[in-house]
Amino acid sequence: MRIPLIVGNWKMNTTATEATRLVHKMLDRLNKVEGEEKVLCPPFVSLIAISKLLKGSSVKLGAQNMHFEVKGAYTGEISPPMLTGLCEFVILGHSERRQYFGETDEIINKKMVAALRNGLKPILCVGEKLEENKAGRTKEIIAQQISQGLSDVKPTPDIVIAYEPIWAIGTGKAANGEQAAATIKFIRNTLSKLWNENAARDLRILYGGSVTSGNIAEFISQPEIDGALVGGASLKAEEFLGIVEQTAAIKRV
Ligand code: PEP
Repeated sequence: MRIPLIVGNWKMNTTATEATRLVHKMLDRLNKVEGEEKVLCPPFVSLIAISKLLKGSSVKLGAQNMHFEVKGAYTGEISPPMLTGLCEFVILGHSERRQYFGETDEIINKKMVAALRNGLKPILCVGEKLEENKAGRTKEIIAQQISQGLSDVKPTPDIVIAYEPIWAIGTGKAANGEQAAATIKFIRNTLSKLWNENAARDLRILYGGSVTSGNIAEFISQPEIDGALVGGASLKAEEFLGIVEQTAAIKRV
């Protein structure tokens, strides 16, 4: 019922030439994988070139961020209508945006509303810091990020949530499958209370944080986990292909 989803977040990596080369390396094999959505999120400047390469394929495009206003004096920003028609997805509230660019739950909420209003599918990232995890505050932090991030947002399966414990992002220290599944179950329960059981059941929730082709099976074999948001490993063709292909094989069983 929930289609598995693997998203590659290239972050601030790849020039336009490198991005095109990376897509060329992966496209044929990615295109052959069925029963799963595959999304690439390159830097903004490569979106147009890559959208042309992906045309007619089963691979979809996403942006890594956007502003909430539709236009105006916001030098250097990208608005939702600039992405509509180019991308299907947009990552919002990534912990790096929260940490380095001061994005609050309130800002992220405005972005969520703007994305949906402009026909984009938002991937809302939530997750706790190491000290919050150690202090046993994971549920409290996530419940707040969910309730504020989704304030006044109507339930729709177009929304994707990515649970990304901050201590696991780019550190090589992934959560274990059971831990991640337990937190994702908590996220679904929180959504159930915020919306209703059916809406919560239909929404896809991903795990993110040091996912590789070597550990994807541990996450994806958990029924609660619908896919992964992949950073570093999505920049290596064989790694990303391994993640996508194993996900299809495991979720098909
Ligand atoms: C991410 O950027 O969302 C991420 C999970 O990064 P990494 O896979 O490198 O930990």
